Amino acid sequence: MSTMHRVTFQQDKITYDAEEGQWLYDVCEAAGSSVPFACKAGACGTCATQVVQGAESLGPQIAREIRTLESNGLDPTQYRLLCLADVHGTLTLGASAKPQHATAALGMCTVRVKEYRPLTLTVCEQRFAVESGEITFSPGQYMIFHVPGIDNVIRRSYSISSHPSDRTHFEICVRAVSGGFCSNFIHRLRPGDCIQVEGPYGDFRLDDGSQRDILMIATGTGIAPIKSMLLSLLGQTGTRRIRLFFGLRNVSDLFYTTMLSDLRETHPWFEPTIILSQPDPMGWPGLRGRVTDLISEQVSADEASNTDAYLCGGRPMIEEAKRLLIRKGMKVDRIRHENFF
Ligand SMILES: Cc1cc2nc3c(=O)[nH]c(=O)nc-3n(C[C@H](O)[C@H](O)[C@H](O)COP(=O)(O)OP(=O)(O)OC[C@H]3O[C@@H](n4cnc5c(N)ncnc54)[C@H](O)[C@@H]3O)c2cc1C
Repeated sequence: MSTMHRVTFQQDKITYDAEEGQWLYDVCEAAGSSVPFACKAGACGTCATQVVQGAESLGPQIAREIRTLESNGLDPTQYRLLCLADVHGTLTLGASAKPQHATAALGMCTVRVKEYRPLTLTVCEQRFAVESGEITFSPGQYMIFHVPGIDNVIRRSYSISSHPSDRTHFEICVRAVSGGFCSNFIHRLRPGDCIQVEGPYGDFRLDDGSQRDILMIATGTGIAPIKSMLLSLLGQTGTRRIRLFFGLRNVSDLFYTTMLSDLRETHPWFEPTIILSQPDPMGWPGLRGRVTDLISEQVSADEASNTDAYLCGGRPMIEEAKRLLIRKGMKVDRIRHENFF
C-alpha cells in the first residue's frame, strides 16, 4: 500500500489524504477544493496558492514556476503553482492568490464566431472576431475560454493557430475529447455565437534571437500553436531549415495536410513529415509509427546540436521527445514545449 499524506486546505476547511507522489491538481479536484485552475501548465498563475506548512513536501520549483509567480507579483518562497506540484509529505495550504492583475493586464474580452470549419470527425477549427479592441499575441500563446457551466464558469486553454498579424481575429483548432465539457461546447459554437475569453497567455514562443535550424514536433491538435509559429516564420525573410514532425493516429484523423503541402511548395526549406501511429493496414502509403521514432531515425547528432526544437502535444510524447533530443546532443534550453494534458 502506498504512503498517504494529509493535505489541509485552510481556505476551504477541508483535509484530504493524498497518495505519495499524487499530483496536486488531482488532489484539489478529489478534495473538492476551491483552488481555481486554468492552463494546468504553470503558465497563467491562476492556481497560485500560499503554502502555510510543509513547503518541503512539494518537489523543487522549476524556472517556469518561479517566472510565473514573479510575473504575478507573488513571492516564490511563499506561493506554489499547484498545477505543477506533487505531494511527498504533510501539507497545509492557505489562501489562493487568484492573481487579479494577470487577467486585467492581459485582457478579457468577448469574441464572436466568424467561421466554423470541421477538419475531421473530432477536430474543428473556429475563427473568432474580437468584439472590443484588438488582440496582440506571440505565435505559440493561448487564450483561456470561459465556458458557461450549470452554476459556474469553466476555464480551458486553447492555443491560437493563426498568424499574429491579424489583430482583429484569431483561430483555434480543438479536438472534441470524449466526455469533455469544454471541448464539446466549443465544437457546438456556430457563426454569430459569442464567448468570453482572456489572454493571451503562455511562454511557449519562438526564440526570436536565434538563427539556428528549427525542428517542430506536434501530435494531434498540438499542431495549433506550431501552425501559428510556422505561418509567422515562413512569412519572414530567411531560409532556415524548418522541419515538422506531425503525428496523428489514423487516416481519418488527418487534417491540415493540404495547407502543409502548399507551404512546402512555396517554401522549399520547410519539410513537413506526417506519421500515423495506427493506420488501417491498407489505407496509408506513408510513414507508420510515432513522432518519437522520427527523432531516433531522422535527427542526426550534428542537426541536434544546431537546432531549436518546439514540441506540443501530450505530456508523455513531450517527455520522450525531450529525452531523445537531449540524448542526440540538443541542449535542454533549446527545447521549448507546451503540454496540453
Ligand atoms: C496551454 C494549453 C493549450 C491547449 N490548447 C489546446 C488546443 O489548441 N486544442 C485542443 O484541442 N486542446 C488544447 N488544450 C487542452 C484543453 O485545454 C482541454 O484540456 C481539452 O479540450 C479538454 O477539456 P474538456 O473540458 O473538454 O475536458 P475535461 O472535462 O477537462 O476532461 C474530460 C476527460 O478527458 C480527459 N482529457 C482531457 N483532455 C484530454 C485530451 N486532450 N486528450 C485526451 N483526454 C483528455 C480528462 O483526463 C478527463 O478524463 C490545451 C491545454 C493547455 C494546458
